Amino acid sequence: SGPLDKEQMQGLRGVREFLKVRTSYDVLPLSFRLVVLDNNLLIKKSLNILIQNGIVSAPLWDSQNSAFAGLLTSTDFINVIQYYCQFPDEIAHIDQFRLSSLRDIERAIGVLPLETVSVHPMRPLYEACRRMLKTRARRIPLVDRDDETGREMVVSVITQYRILKFIAVNNEQYTMLLKKPVRELGLGTYKDLATATMGSSVLDVIHLMVKYNISAVPIIDENNKVLNLFEAVDVIPCIKGGAYDELSATVGEALSRRAEEFGGIYTCNEDDRLDAIFDTIRKSRVHRLIVVDDDNRLKGIISLSDILKYVLLYGEEDDDIRGN
Ligand code: ADP
Repeated sequence: SGPLDKEQMQGLRGVREFLKVRTSYDVLPLSFRLVVLDNNLLIKKSLNILIQNGIVSAPLWDSQNSAFAGLLTSTDFINVIQYYCQFPDEIAHIDQFRLSSLRDIERAIGVLPLETVSVHPMRPLYEACRRMLKTRARRIPLVDRDDETGREMVVSVITQYRILKFIAVNNEQYTMLLKKPVRELGLGTYKDLATATMGSSVLDVIHLMVKYNISAVPIIDENNKVLNLFEAVDVIPCIKGGAYDELSATVGEALSRRAEEFGGIYTCNEDDRLDAIFDTIRKSRVHRLIVVDDDNRLKGIISLSDILKYVLLYGEEDDDIRGN
């Protein structure tokens, strides 16, 4: 191993130490708001609330039992859509479904319920990261217990996005040591990519996301050039108002309705180094990077989980959750 390897390991170790001495609580901004939805709310209404608040996920609260009842995410809406596809005659009922029926919907379409993991806000951030990688959760609720009533309370939710931002902003001295290019690290996915075109239907893309268990599909042209990206969160405005029949619309139509605050798409090159990627994460709202060649042709995709996995686990002894 050369000096570059040594430096790279030094950078990784620095970041890992940082994650062990900081808590999940440290990631939270000084002041924030948290929208919690009652489990008894109609699914249809919950969609509007998310859209009105400009958010894509919210913790659920079971007010009968005064308990945290899981996290509502775009996956739940995708499940409802799958239910609609399997039982199109049920459309009248779908309109009446409440958030508490989400578990029944999972059962009806035969998907495994997502594990509702949570972490205590004062535990090391490293632990939250490990748990996210293990369960493939993209976000994790911080749940504390009220000293007086003994009841659970949801403090906030942290995402892979927030954690990587937090790492990037506070560890420049370490991330600058990560000089190895993406190509050499094998960071991301380069084979068997799920893609679609502007003319594909929204439903086709949703089925791809389900099949591959991914949260975004690059939209390419006939020369494999990247035009856009359809994300799981793009599904939310598509079914606003219970307009499930509009899912047969094309990706092009759906993307033209995207909210103005859409963060944009970030690309990188296989020769880009990890330190440069951290610079991008520090400065921008990156949720994933599309790897392209000099002609903007699709080569691969680097998800935040790919980056988090590498930063946490590369070269560690116990690779039990790396899957290799
Ligand atoms: P995250 O878990 O960060 O939300 P994804 O769910 O999109 O990211 O990605 C999960 C895994 O699938 C990652 O290893 C990523 O490289 C890979 N992946 C992401 N998008 C695609 C795609 N369109 N085709 C094939 N693999 C993908």
